Amino acid sequence: MLQSTRNEKIKSLPSEAVLEGIAPDGGLYIPTDFEHLKFDWESVIEKKTREIAVEVLAAVLDDFPKDELRTLVEKAYRGKFETEELCPLVPCGKEYILELFRGPTSAFKDVALSMLPQLTTAAREKCGVQDEIVILAATSGDTGKAALEGFHDVEGTKIIVFYPDGGVSRIQRAQMVTQEGKNVFVCAIKGNFDDAQTGVKAIFAEVQKKNLLAGKPARLSSANSINIGRLAPQIVYYFKAYGDLVKCGRIQKGEKVNFSVPTGNFGNILAGFFAKKMGLPVGTLLCASNQNCVLTDFIRTGTYDKRRPFYKTTSPSMDILVSSNLERLLFLLSDGNAEEVAGYMKSLSEDGFYTVTPQLFTRLQEHFAAGFATDEEAAAAIRATYEETGYLCDPHTAVAVKAAREYENENPGAAPMVVLSTASPYKFSPSVLAALGEEVDGDEFEIMNRLQAKTGVPIPKNLAGLQKKKELHKTVIEKEDMLQYVFNCIEGKK
Ligand SMILES: *Cc1c(COP(=O)(O)O)cnc(C)c1O
Repeated sequence: MLQSTRNEKIKSLPSEAVLEGIAPDGGLYIPTDFEHLKFDWESVIEKKTREIAVEVLAAVLDDFPKDELRTLVEKAYRGKFETEELCPLVPCGKEYILELFRGPTSAFKDVALSMLPQLTTAAREKCGVQDEIVILAATSGDTGKAALEGFHDVEGTKIIVFYPDGGVSRIQRAQMVTQEGKNVFVCAIKGNFDDAQTGVKAIFAEVQKKNLLAGKPARLSSANSINIGRLAPQIVYYFKAYGDLVKCGRIQKGEKVNFSVPTGNFGNILAGFFAKKMGLPVGTLLCASNQNCVLTDFIRTGTYDKRRPFYKTTSPSMDILVSSNLERLLFLLSDGNAEEVAGYMKSLSEDGFYTVTPQLFTRLQEHFAAGFATDEEAAAAIRATYEETGYLCDPHTAVAVKAAREYENENPGAAPMVVLSTASPYKFSPSVLAALGEEVDGDEFEIMNRLQAKTGVPIPKNLAGLQKKKELHKTVIEKEDMLQYVFNCIEGKK
């Protein structure tokens, strides 16, 4: 059973929560009892990644039986990732890199967004919902493509993605506008990412307030990481990485492992804390931010303060000042005190900041540490890592590498460190090539080829083939017309 982080009386079965996304009071769904979620991790980590996924998902989403999950996991992942193990663990100097970007769009969001559509269709059946589930997403680049890839041609769903016209990279645009599938809609809006995001939120509110879908066989849902169906699949790779370290003899079962996580909305790193609560011997979870280091400051001081300048960085997927999943952590660290959490969230929206109790702060520091990197520091980390080890990482991963090195310098003799890698370097070719000290101008596809020529690291197939693919989605609309666009899609008109 799950409950809202803001009200213990609002409860939901996992399948219902997957369809709803967010709780009706604006809180996030979370398991009520982690003791109950503990399972025999020592034997589970010996299994293959997809089997680990079945066990972990069955524990968290407990109204999905294992046999059903086995089928869903196969559909989600089989043949879709570059390797059967889904997320390879690669030694890199003193650290280990967990590559989460070997999926169909070369971004870490593939891990969860491959699984979510399967959970959505299964939940639809379980809850006896006949309506079509219409997924709305506003994207600054990565989420949109991963959601399209996950939901295309999934029975009983439609996926609509809005992106800012001229506001995504040429490669990201090409990834989205070439998407095939009979239930996909991709639309540029005249405006920036905030306009797209605000527009999507306004559609949800307007549809609910005026009951606009009454009598129509459709309901709206969201694919971002507030959905428990997106969070749960991310717990899996923490167990997988731990298992790999046992298998290669680096640790004995029971020894601690630290994880450095490039963080934006706090979904990825929160999944690591879930793994810890489920019994995995996780040591420190190192929260790595770019120059938008609101989380670094929070973990170091206990005050979360969003009243600060917003920076556009070379790690755009981490350019976030309000990390929505942090709310789930506050809930867990306050022993499930929904009232306390609701208070923090109220202060954040009304005053722009909150300070946690001394007790919560102590617990925060027990489990978490934090670091950050400026663009220059991330670039230096890309270059140093490449020169010292031959490993090429993207700017998001580089932020976590920098934080990991700093942490290890300050804590000699610390447990082994796994750095989570969240994107292929080729998704951010201009920044990566520049970090290696090369002149960067001109066409992004050209730069991708130059990066390959210089490093010999192969370009992922999905990115290499992009330039030749046909553009299928050319619609550009005014931001005022987004609601009308959604209704046209629901009625089957493009
Ligand atoms: C989404 C994303 C992140 C941030 O992950 P959160 O779960 O939001 O903390 C980091 N790096 C990349 C490349 C991403 O796409």
